[in-house]
This record gives sequence, structure tokens and C-alpha cells, in this order.
Amino acid sequence: MDDVLDNAPFPYARLDFPLAPVTLYNIGGPARIALLPRNAPEVDEAWRWMVAQPLPRLVLGGGSNVLISDNGFPGIVLFTTHLTRMEELGDGRYRVGSGVPLARLVRDVMLPNNYAGVGALTGIPGSVGGAIYMNAGTANGSTCQFLESVNLMNNGGLRSLEMDPSLYSYRGQNFCGIDDVILGGVFRFTPAEEDQRALFDHYMLRRREKQPQGHCCGSVFKNPPNDHAGRLIEACGLKGARAGGAVISPVHANFIMNEDGASFDDVLGLIHLAKEQVRERFGIALEEEVRIIRSR
Ligand SMILES: Cc1cc2nc3c(=O)[nH]c(=O)nc-3n(C[C@H](O)[C@H](O)[C@H](O)COP(=O)(O)OP(=O)(O)OC[C@H]3O[C@@H](n4cnc5c(N)ncnc54)[C@H](O)[C@@H]3O)c2cc1C
Repeated sequence: MDDVLDNAPFPYARLDFPLAPVTLYNIGGPARIALLPRNAPEVDEAWRWMVAQPLPRLVLGGGSNVLISDNGFPGIVLFTTHLTRMEELGDGRYRVGSGVPLARLVRDVMLPNNYAGVGALTGIPGSVGGAIYMNAGTANGSTCQFLESVNLMNNGGLRSLEMDPSLYSYRGQNFCGIDDVILGGVFRFTPAEEDQRALFDHYMLRRREKQPQGHCCGSVFKNPPNDHAGRLIEACGLKGARAGGAVISPVHANFIMNEDGASFDDVLGLIHLAKEQVRERFGIALEEEVRIIRSR
């Protein structure tokens, strides 16, 4: 173990780095090695080193859509948190680092300029990189539709990819592989006629009214075509179902909350319960939106 670190004499490398505090679920054991590069050249250096090691690898942004094993991650976790540069390029175009919180993009760029799209991106926690990877969004739209291009590190090196609707789908994309890192992207916004500040207030209020507050990952499951995962789970009578410290929210059945020191297995147990009952009752196979990180 120490040999591995001896070969990676990065001041931004950490051993046995606790992951629970950097996830919104507040669940997960330590990463064997965490790399927290502070700028783009360090990400380049860290990523090249990481992919050369015979260890499992994971990239993390804001940790708002992951459920990590209590045994931790037995490999290397690369954090993009410090890639927080944002640059205005003119004509509604902005180069945005993957570590910029999505909420900051909305607050500092979209709202002051009344750019269209606030209804799609308001209230989503996490980083721009995570939002691109997940194609995060709402019924009103999603992150990748506002992208002109994305910057990636993969085994072909650093590349810029022009965005195209064939490259993304509902809560997913096909341009960033499991070992790749999204460094950021160029967003292109257009001014809206509708008052985006009023929309922002509306959607924030709606979230406060309709979504539970606390440690969670947002929606656990993707919505199946023409239906809602929350409606199906609720129809199975599972609101309020518990396993250890985890509960299927009585407020919104697609949210599984870490209410009281829940373990990875507690949450996973409820995920399996919901999938099983929805399949039995409706013949529908729910698909997880949350990324489940096992210790392998
Ligand atoms: C209260 C709450 C509400 C939410 N509401 C919504 C919502 O309305 N709509 C929605 O879509 N989501 C929602 N989410 C889920 C989550 O916020 C989004 O999926 C978010 O975009 C994830 O970003 P992140 O930086 O936290 O990603 P992380 O959780 O850090 O990572 C998520 C995935 O992306 C990968 N990843 C992250 N950054 C990079 C990178 N730079 N390069 C390559 N891969 C990367 C990770 O490997 C992982 O597979 C909600 C979550 C919570 C807790």
C-alpha cells in the first residue's frame, strides 16, 4: 500500500480517506487512496497515474448521487471538486470547470442574465461534472442540452467533444466511460422571455414542499416510460417502510432516506424491496438512478 503512495508523491493524495462525509447520503467507508488535485494540470497528472495502477478507480464530484459500501472503496478515488474555474466567452457561452457546483452556475450565470433553462437545473445538488455525467435535470430539460462541447480525459488523452443530442439520454450519456474524467464543458445559454427568477423561486418552493429534507441521493430510481417510480412504490404500500436506519420517505416514495445512521445494506435492502414489489405487482423493472459503489 505504502509502495503505491511512495510512487505517487502528490501533495494532494490521501490514504484511507473517509467517504461518508463527502456524500449527501453520509454513508460509505474510506477510499484506499483519494486524489484531490487542485487544478487542471494536477488532474491530468493524477488521472495518468491512477489509470496506470492495478487498482479499481472512481471519479467523484459532489457525491450527491452515490451510495458507497460501508467497507469503502478499495482503490483510487479522484475528486474534481477543485476544478472551479468559470470563464465568460461571450454570446451566452461559458467555459465551466467540472467542480463548479451546478447551483453556482444557476445563481451566478443563469439568473443574472435571465437565461432560459432555470426550470431544468434549479435545486439539483452536486457538481457540473456530475450533472454532465448523469445528464441531470427535471421534466423541463437536462444539463447536456445546454452544452456546446465537453472536455474529457480518457485513454486517448485530453479531448474536446462537440455535444450532440445523440450523445445523451434521460439521466445518461454515452461519451464518458467509467474510467474517463469530465474536466468541464462549454455551456451555451440563450436569454428567456419568461422571468427566470420567478421560475427559480417557484421550483425551489416546490422542492421544499414535495421533497423530503435530509441525507439522501434524490430520486433512487429512474422513472419508467410514461410513469413515475414514486407512484409505483407508493402504490405497493411502501411509504414509510424501514430497514435499520433507512426509510422509504413518507413524503416521496422515490426517496430513500438515511434517517438515523443507516448502513449501505439498510438502503440497499429497501432498494431491493421496492424493485421486487414493483416487479411483482406491475411487471415493471425499476432501474436505479443512484450509482451504487460496492467494495467488490
Ligand atoms: C436532494 C437531492 C435532489 C436531487 N435532485 C435531482 C434532480 O432534480 N435531477 C437530477 O437529475 N438529479 C437529482 N439529484 C441527484 C444528483 O444531485 C445529480 O445526479 C447530480 O448531478 C450528481 O452530481 P455530483 O457531482 O454530486 O455527482 P457524484 O454523486 O459525485 O457522481 C455521480 C456519478 O457521476 C460520475 N462523475 C461525477 N463527476 C464526474 C466527472 N467529473 N467525470 C466523470 N464522471 C463523473 C461519478 O463517477 C458517478 O458515477 C438529487 C440529489 C439530491 C441529494
